[in-house]
Amino acid sequence: MNKILVTGALGQIGSELVVKLREIYGVDHVVAADLRSSSHEITQSGPFELLDVTNAKAMFEIANRYKVDTVIHLAALLSAVAEEKPLLAWNLNMGGLMNALEVSRELGCQFFTPSSIGSFGPSTPKDNTPQDTIQRPNTMYGVNKVSGELLCDYYFHKYGLDTRGLRLPGLISYMTPPGGGTTDYAVEIYYAAVSTGRYTSYIAKGSDMDMMYMPDALNAIIDLMEADSSLLIHRNSFNVTAMSVDPEAIAAAIRDEFPGFILDYDIDPKRQAIADSWPHSIDATAAKTEWGFHARYDLKAMTKDMLSQLSERQMLRKA
Ligand code: NAD
Repeated sequence: MNKILVTGALGQIGSELVVKLREIYGVDHVVAADLRSSSHEITQSGPFELLDVTNAKAMFEIANRYKVDTVIHLAALLSAVAEEKPLLAWNLNMGGLMNALEVSRELGCQFFTPSSIGSFGPSTPKDNTPQDTIQRPNTMYGVNKVSGELLCDYYFHKYGLDTRGLRLPGLISYMTPPGGGTTDYAVEIYYAAVSTGRYTSYIAKGSDMDMMYMPDALNAIIDLMEADSSLLIHRNSFNVTAMSVDPEAIAAAIRDEFPGFILDYDIDPKRQAIADSWPHSIDATAAKTEWGFHARYDLKAMTKDMLSQLSERQMLRKA
């Protein structure tokens, strides 16, 4: 990676990934692009372009103008929103991905896009879900993610494009709010703990799902992109995870820091149905053995950091 284009750069992942990439590769070496603009640090601190990823010509023009050698394609509609707007999800998630792959093929770029634990479905083994297993998701997001994994494999085999990807679990972070995924509750719960001391979860007790703290996700993306290509067997779809948790487990970890924290439930049947179709815990052995993936934050360490960061931000806002 030398000159990098990041699409969907103002989202939950992009807003932190761009900052980290600029620290490592240099401010002028990371071009951030998004459908929307904002007064965000990213749009002020380095190259930023307005880009709708469904516009192939515009994406090519930007990538070519900046002479990028790497495309990190993040623009997408997430699971809960995609289920509400399936046609929009297909057009954005598949159309945008196809455009990003074509631009990368034409310019000879290295390519990254995330898949998700949403690429699994009800018939997938739920515990210690293997790297290679049944993938018959019953959500539009899942259909998009499996199709995306296959499309990236296709571009690698057909054109030799250096495509890489991770099946990300639910990501927890404090910089940018999540964009409408099923695991968003695991972020909201920390904001609520700091602001009101109680949270009403739309996901039921006992719904174990894989999660990871954002710093681990950023390292995983960069480590995979920097890994020796010849070592990658599962290049477009590595299972990665740091913990498998349900709302009760997160609440218990929060109570270690904030003993009075209260958790109650008001289940959203739509998002619960998506959660029920996903694995409880996935097996990340392939990522560990093929390119050395490891997560530094477990639930306890992540909770301590989330609560301290959010408390600090709240104090700064009040000051
Ligand atoms: P997000 O919803 O927070 O951000 C998506 C960004 O894409 C937004 O800034 C939005 O403005 C932009 N965007 C939307 N439509 C666009 C368009 N037509 N053209 C250009 N930009 C557009 O998403 P995120 O959480 O940062 O996720 C990024 C990727 O990671 C997605 O592929 C998502 O499926 C995947 N992923 C995320 C998680 C997670 O927990 N955040 C987990 C698994 C996989």
